[in-house]
Amino acid sequence: MSRNAESTAFRSALEVIRAVEPRVADAIGAELTDQRESLKLIASENYASPATLLAMGNWFSDKYAEGTVGRRFYAGCQNVDTVEALAAEHARELFGAAHAYVQPHSGIDANLVAFWAVLADRVESPALKKAQVRQVNDLTEADWFALRRELGNQRMLGMSLDAGGHLTHGFRPNISGKMFDQRSYGTDPATGLIDYDRLAEAAREFKPLILVGGYSAYPRKVNFRILREIADSVGATFMVDMAHFAGLVAGKVFTGDFDPVPHAHIVTTTTHKSLRGPRGGMVLCQPELADQVDRGCPMVLGGPLPHVMAAKAVALAEARRPDFADYAQRIVTNAQALAEGLLRRGAKLVTGGTDNHLVLIDVSGYGLTGRQAEQALLDSGIVTNRNSVPQDPNGAWYTSGIRIGTPALTTRGLGTAEMDQTAELIHAVLTQTTAGANADGTPSKAKYVLDPAQADKISRQAADILAPHPLYPTVDLT
Ligand SMILES: *Cc1c(COP(=O)(O)O)cnc(C)c1O
Repeated sequence: MSRNAESTAFRSALEVIRAVEPRVADAIGAELTDQRESLKLIASENYASPATLLAMGNWFSDKYAEGTVGRRFYAGCQNVDTVEALAAEHARELFGAAHAYVQPHSGIDANLVAFWAVLADRVESPALKKAQVRQVNDLTEADWFALRRELGNQRMLGMSLDAGGHLTHGFRPNISGKMFDQRSYGTDPATGLIDYDRLAEAAREFKPLILVGGYSAYPRKVNFRILREIADSVGATFMVDMAHFAGLVAGKVFTGDFDPVPHAHIVTTTTHKSLRGPRGGMVLCQPELADQVDRGCPMVLGGPLPHVMAAKAVALAEARRPDFADYAQRIVTNAQALAEGLLRRGAKLVTGGTDNHLVLIDVSGYGLTGRQAEQALLDSGIVTNRNSVPQDPNGAWYTSGIRIGTPALTTRGLGTAEMDQTAELIHAVLTQTTAGANADGTPSKAKYVLDPAQADKISRQAADILAPHPLYPTVDLT
């Protein structure tokens, strides 16, 4: 695509927006500048292609399209049908899935759709069946009471938050922790790895309806064949949330036992993390769950976003091209180079390294909390996020970890040499930062001391690493 077409498209769009509310046009322009200037190591973020971004800004946004392809509750959905069917077809082909539902607005929404589908499919409640076959008006007071009691008593076994699981895998304050009676599995304290034998034991004891695999902050591969065997041994439905690593599955870095799609009954994902699409979610499933999954909207979800489904179709088409597999491989090579660079300089990493796109640094070795480290890195032009480490003594707010990931910088074209330079900068910031104190002299978990001149110097070095790799090189707004 010519530099001209993309620059013209974005420039013209901003001109049209500027005529109505110039502050919005300015903010959009400023966002591009900020993204171009920051060394972005947020493991869950990426940079979608211009084609993906442009597919979202149009009149598809004006359409209501409740229902599914060919079975809508609104008239005039023929063009929405085209893009939704295309997105689903690309998803099925890309992941080798029997069924794909591309309407979820985000990863959390995709999980709610999956939970509801499994409950609807598995819970032997006459009241639930009535609700499912649209005999809702026939439900008696007693039916409703039974329904609430039965649904609330179902069991879920998911990875604990501090071991790298996600809030929606049954964390108490999350809706999933209220919908389900949840128990979690952690990692081995000595190695930081999932202990499959203990997991099998927990499943045998607890007998969950749903076993959830997948994570947001676990830096290793997971053997989904073993998880499926465990699920089968207790009659559980096996669900995998691949929100973080979908790009590595799409790019065939995770194959065989490590590819969740052939092993799980149901797989959920985001589309905007390593998969590099628009913000959104998706559910892939075995044929027997397809009908329930397709009822996601309006059972669980608000009306579909056809403009985002159009962008999903574009991004999934991109992910089916051979260069995406090369991209996915480079994400992992870069993460490993970053991990090695940090280890060589003395950093402590959870599990001692990585075999995916993310690295979890235990910053307690630097005498800092995650919160202090995150802010000091940000002052130095390096964007990361703090994260709990297993058995974190500082809890989920201050934490003891920094999570970093390579999908975004790899999209930008950075390679292993730049990862080593990045490791040097991170290590420099963390060694030069010291924990601060409260006004009364007690140690603070938030305050820190970093010489601003040092922070500036490192910011300039971070900018030097980025300079040869401009972000969105085909887009010139000037
Ligand atoms: C990011 C993430 C989600 C949530 O995705 P949203 O699009 O923010 O709703 C769900 N599950 C996992 C494992 C994630 O990492």
